[in-house]
Amino acid sequence: MQQLEVLTHQARALANGTLPSSEAELEVARQMQICNACRYCEGFCAVFPAMTRRLEFGKADVHYLANLCHSCGACLHACQYAPPHEFALNVPQAMAQLRGQTYAEYAWPFAFGALYRRNGLTLALALAAGLALFLLLALLVKGSLLNPPLPGGFYAVFPHNFLVSLFAPVFLFATLALGLGLRKFWSDVSPARSSEGSTAKSVVREAVLEAASDVLLLKYLDGGHGEGCNNEDDRWTLWRKRFHHATFYGFVLCFAATGVATLYHYLLDWHAPYALSSLPVVLGTAGGVGLLIGPTGLLWLNLLRHPLHGDPAQKPMDRAFIALLFLCSSTGLALLMWRDAPAMTLLLALHLGVVMALFLTLPYGKFAHGFYRSAALLKAALERRMPSNLRLGGD
Ligand code: SF4
Ligand code: SF4
Repeated sequence: MQQLEVLTHQARALANGTLPSSEAELEVARQMQICNACRYCEGFCAVFPAMTRRLEFGKADVHYLANLCHSCGACLHACQYAPPHEFALNVPQAMAQLRGQTYAEYAWPFAFGALYRRNGLTLALALAAGLALFLLLALLVKGSLLNPPLPGGFYAVFPHNFLVSLFAPVFLFATLALGLGLRKFWSDVSPARSSEGSTAKSVVREAVLEAASDVLLLKYLDGGHGEGCNNEDDRWTLWRKRFHHATFYGFVLCFAATGVATLYHYLLDWHAPYALSSLPVVLGTAGGVGLLIGPTGLLWLNLLRHPLHGDPAQKPMDRAFIALLFLCSSTGLALLMWRDAPAMTLLLALHLGVVMALFLTLPYGKFAHGFYRSAALLKAALERRMPSNLRLGGD
């Protein structure tokens, strides 16, 4: 009778499409079943405590766990069942492979996600070069690529309204694509359950604060013991956390610089070019330096990475994101340094092309993981505040 119930349950799940079906989903589910019996790695990150709240791993569960993992490698180096053991457990790699699949699956429009996943590096660089070339040709039609110092700065080359008409749709498209992807991910991994439906507001507030702090401090990149992740071998290092911080806060500062400049322009009627000591330039310079150091360091760690960590097929996509961030900051800082030089128009076209390519590709790779991971951390923080559905022992 019990067996019939199990079979009925599985048949229903299969019909609803809630069972893992792809190779990557099935592999994560298989490995989580083994880990759930072992539980040695429970203190390493948020994945293992979330795993212990489940006995079965459906499609939504494995998508959630894959985005909760940040590929620190700790559970591979600690595992007695890692290759060459016949169980061949490699949680970081299985999670990374599935994570890559989720970027494409939740992407909007879907075709862009699949294209970027297959040809990330080529696509990103071709897009940046193509857009820069387009702007350079536009300048050539107008006159020369080199110019004497221009009193109106950048806006004497490309008028402010032209830049707004170029960048506003790109920014809105990236925001919309990220928002739709995130909504799809959240509605998949957090199906409404009666126990979650009645969550008190104070609990939600606490969970949001905890998840925000985990995201801002990159808590789990310290390996759960404060000494860091594994990168090329079984030694711990905090460099991954430091370079992620430099990249993340570099991006935030650059974004803040653009925001402040927009407020200056529209609210205060103060127009660029701004002095070197002005707030937008100071924020942009600090952000640019962060975006030089962070991506350079991440690329260095990526090249040294243990071959069993991560998904080799995703390396071009990861490096594309790193390359675009680096090109954004290097061309931006060069533009600041030579903004009164004849080469300013050339640098401006290059910088704008790279920034536009970065925004167009943001929803389809590593950047999107930041959003899915934040959502997964929020779900983990919410789950921790609820009684377990398993109702075992101390629950
Ligand atoms: S990764 Fe290995 S050691 Fe860690 S919980 Fe899973 S089976 Fe156990
Ligand atoms: S690789 Fe790191 S983050 Fe991912 S499951 Fe293992 S210990 Fe957790």
